[in-house]
Amino acid sequence: MPVLSHLHHLFNAEQCQTYIHTLRWKDRPLQCPRCQSQAIGRWGTYQYRPGCKRYWCHGCKRTFTDLTGTLLHRSQRPLSYWILATFLLCLACSSRRIAREVGVHIRTSYRWCWWLRNVALSYEMQRQLEGTVEADDLYHTAGHKGQAPHGGKKALGRRARGRRKKREPGRGHYDKDRPAIIAWVSRQGAVVLHATRDFTVQTVQKAADIAVHAGSRLYTDSASSYRALKGYVHEFVNHTQKEYARGDVHENRAECLFSLLKPYLRVFRGISKCNLPGYVGFFQFLRNFRQLNAFEQAELILQAALDPTIARRAQRGEFVTCFDHFDLLQTAIN
Ligand SMILES: [Zn+2]
Repeated sequence: MPVLSHLHHLFNAEQCQTYIHTLRWKDRPLQCPRCQSQAIGRWGTYQYRPGCKRYWCHGCKRTFTDLTGTLLHRSQRPLSYWILATFLLCLACSSRRIAREVGVHIRTSYRWCWWLRNVALSYEMQRQLEGTVEADDLYHTAGHKGQAPHGGKKALGRRARGRRKKREPGRGHYDKDRPAIIAWVSRQGAVVLHATRDFTVQTVQKAADIAVHAGSRLYTDSASSYRALKGYVHEFVNHTQKEYARGDVHENRAECLFSLLKPYLRVFRGISKCNLPGYVGFFQFLRNFRQLNAFEQAELILQAALDPTIARRAQRGEFVTCFDHFDLLQTAIN
């Protein structure tokens, strides 16, 4: 363990444990995570983990703690590390930075970041926009960072590439290492971001069906994929004719969102294209909860991480596969 600063010592293990206990049982009664029985007794404490209590379930005759079944279950690290890491994640720190600040190995922090991002996506699963919605698209350069040259888990025989990939000219596509990101921005404030394989008519239609409520008003630029959209009241501005706003019709909010997304993604120094939906989805979470500060956002994530059902699905990466329209769309096209 590295030498920690005095600031780290302000985190009292007992207080962290009490905080986690409060978060875990905030919206539900203290019950057994296995059989949901509320007939529960005390079952001792830990010397090496002050504040951590064990409970005895009279229903299934087994014991459990505040962390049983959650994302933090069986973690060797103190709770203060988890709380700090979640806070830093909400400040858009890379996993390398978190590893250094918190004092864990890079692989540990990478795993934590991945899980916590997944957990945060659970808040964004049901989001659909209504009213007036703006849309815009972007091609993000993303290769096979950290993987064998053509993807997959094959041994590299060298250190994984950590640099940003050089971009090719022209339209982007997943196979050209430039997948598309489509932003749907409601004028009421909520946003939905999709990382997609390409920018064809079918892809955009499918993404729109997921993100925007049918019958909503849609403002876009003059790209042909938007013009072919069905089921919306659609108007567009023509950028080639230097038309950027026509009265109420413009997509400045969507373009502004990309000006925030780009510096957010730049922090990670290149993202693998198969991980891109996870990062973009987490940005969507941060954006939709932007009225909260990073502490409050971290609390939301921790609360979801302490829900055994969400934790299990997040560890399996189920939320991000729902976001991953690459596979979804491929099956739709074939
Ligand atoms: Zn039980």
